[in-house]
Amino acid sequence: MNLILLGAPGAGKGTQAKLVVEKYGLIQLSTGDMLRSAVANQTALGQKAKVIMEKGELVPDEIMIEMIRESIASYQGHCKGFIFDGFPRTRKQAESLDNVLSQLGMNITSVFQLNIDENLLIDRIAYRYSCKKCGAIYNKKLKVEKISGVCDVCGSVEFTSRSDDNVVTVKSRLKVYNEMANILIKYYSEKGRLKIIDASSDVIDVSKQIIDHLESTSELT
Ligand code: AMP
Repeated sequence: MNLILLGAPGAGKGTQAKLVVEKYGLIQLSTGDMLRSAVANQTALGQKAKVIMEKGELVPDEIMIEMIRESIASYQGHCKGFIFDGFPRTRKQAESLDNVLSQLGMNITSVFQLNIDENLLIDRIAYRYSCKKCGAIYNKKLKVEKISGVCDVCGSVEFTSRSDDNVVTVKSRLKVYNEMANILIKYYSEKGRLKIIDASSDVIDVSKQIIDHLESTSELT
């Protein structure tokens, strides 16, 4: 089973990917996480990506396609499948993903489009922070830790926030997203793979919509 989560920044792709990973044992491939790790490690790619990410623009397709191809190859044969989070973001990336998977005898089984009112997104992103250790996501306005300064999930006391989670960059990220969203929606809906999810409700409800779809389409092979 290979799944894709599409949706605007802040729609909850990362959170939902982690829940799917817990339930079905898939490998989460988040291109945003891979790029942030390259930035943190100050690799040549990281230095190039940092500038682009801080502007809220897209890293060139060739780089992203190679990155995802290498990740798939490194896990292939040792896992139950993948959940792609933040990839693809262009039609070229979508076509390349299909090619890479088909060369390995796999395909995309379902694509979830997480739809959400754009007015909710700025608050979701601009106030977002996460646990440095386990990645649990919080929000200064919408969801703080039960005990202030202590992660609810792992008890760590260190938190971090993304440098591109600020109002200016978020607006640019949303603009870039809106330019590409319909192209990807059309691409996967023509393949009969697309399932629209209402992502404005709470995390558990969104997760239930995804799981119900997977359970009802007998894709759990
Ligand atoms: P994300 O964590 O998915 O919101 O990604 C953060 C940033 O990384 C994006 O705003 C882009 O600059 C870059 N990025 C992540 N994934 C991709 C991708 N598939 N194609 C191009 N740029 C990407």
